[in-house]
Amino acid sequence: MTGWLNPNAHCPVCGASVYFYANQNGSRVFFDDVGPPWPKHPCTDNGAAMGSGRAPSRHDFSSARTPSRWHDQAWQSYAVKRIRSEGGFTRISLSMMTGTGLGPSRTVPGQPPLQTDDLVFVNGPRISYFDPASGEPVVVEDAEATARIAEKPITERDRQHVTTRLADRVAADEITADNAAAMTAGVSSARTRGDLAGALQIEVTDLKLARPHPGNLLLLAIGFVQMVAAFSIAGGTPSVPAMTPGMVLAASAVYRLTPDMERGARAALGVMAALALLFPVSLIGVLI
Ligand SMILES: [Zn+2]
Repeated sequence: MTGWLNPNAHCPVCGASVYFYANQNGSRVFFDDVGPPWPKHPCTDNGAAMGSGRAPSRHDFSSARTPSRWHDQAWQSYAVKRIRSEGGFTRISLSMMTGTGLGPSRTVPGQPPLQTDDLVFVNGPRISYFDPASGEPVVVEDAEATARIAEKPITERDRQHVTTRLADRVAADEITADNAAAMTAGVSSARTRGDLAGALQIEVTDLKLARPHPGNLLLLAIGFVQMVAAFSIAGGTPSVPAMTPGMVLAASAVYRLTPDMERGARAALGVMAALALLFPVSLIGVLI
């Protein structure tokens, strides 16, 4: 079921210039302007419709009124330049209303009913557009941070952790065995956190993965002891080459203990933690 929005309509009651929306379902709405707060024209609706059968495009406005009279000026109008869906999210790159120049980009969940040149409005992290299927304006929050989390790869431990929790929920009568079987099939083929959340039918931000393996704490301790030993053997002279194996162990342990962070930040934190260990190592190394 699709609809359309005609930007060059006239109100059949008062004759004012209005935006007319109609769909095959019989919904008919007049708007005084497009863009948040999407002010509806107060007169009754029974006007004749004509339109292109899709959402408003920037081309509709090149020879008509620009969408600027009544709408909230905090919302800037843009045209869709490029739209790309991946992993349950859609990246929308925008251009100016002329179709040229670079506008902002936003990431939204799911697949919005937008195509190239469609009219959208942006206010900070929010994006608003007209959904021709429902005849309703839509406001969506930017989900770039969520999309980044959804792209993170998962491990076999994560899959096992989630599968075990599904069995617990069946035992607690929260879900049926059939539901759990269907979810388990999705879990076993999941590659990213987004896939996993999709299989479990939850938001990616509500996903709970396996805790970092406790063996990494042991790895950290071994690294520390190696550094102390290397320091002591060197007779209290701080020798970085001699302590390198311990520092590498400690850095990789810290890296593995922080799976929720960005990869670059994890690596930097691992190196900083290994360097920070030099202080307690030198203190203990002197005492031994
Ligand atoms: Zn009117």
